[in-house]
Amino acid sequence: MINSPPLIVITAPSGAGKTTIIKRLLQKHHSFCFSVSHTTRFIRCGEQEGREYYFIDKEKFEEKIKNDDFLEWAKVHEKYYGTSKSEIQRLQQQNKTVILDIDVQGALELMSRKMSKQDSFLKNALYIFISVDSKEILRKRLIQRATDDMRTIELRLKNAERELALQKNWQNIIVNREVNQSVEKIEKLIRA
Ligand code: 5GP
Repeated sequence: MINSPPLIVITAPSGAGKTTIIKRLLQKHHSFCFSVSHTTRFIRCGEQEGREYYFIDKEKFEEKIKNDDFLEWAKVHEKYYGTSKSEIQRLQQQNKTVILDIDVQGALELMSRKMSKQDSFLKNALYIFISVDSKEILRKRLIQRATDDMRTIELRLKNAERELALQKNWQNIIVNREVNQSVEKIEKLIRA
């Protein structure tokens, strides 16, 4: 896609359909690539080391925090998640548009850093919040998805309330009612 920003940061509460949207964007646009984060959460059925995440333990993650290895990191749903600087450097070398899938805290941190630092990569980033019409939709999707136990689903829903309340900080909010429509809306934002 012509004139794509160097970085697209996509944020959403659990169950909003963000992963499906990102997969579709990556399939459609070969000039886009995905930044694989590090996490301490368990690997889900169907996930692959180095594809969805780099799965590491808490000790290794905390060591990486100490070594300043992360562009940003956050504790989400009681687990650590972080974007490593080396992953971003690796993708930047490919001259592609990097898609970051990060939570509200991480995105807000990058957005505020954008104001204060002269990092053109962050300065020209496009921040998108994928939202839903109601919390009930999230509950339904999380139960249908069946990747988490009920305790985790309840925790994710509780966090979703806080995350949805913070969407007011985004200029670009897409209510995901249908995946193709949402993808088209993102493409329109990228072209704008
Ligand atoms: P999940 O466990 O469902 O894959 O992801 C849980 C949450 O962690 C999602 O909101 C996802 O966007 C977020 N997340 C994934 N990677 C990162 C990261 O590197 N940094 C931050 N801050 N959040 C992340």
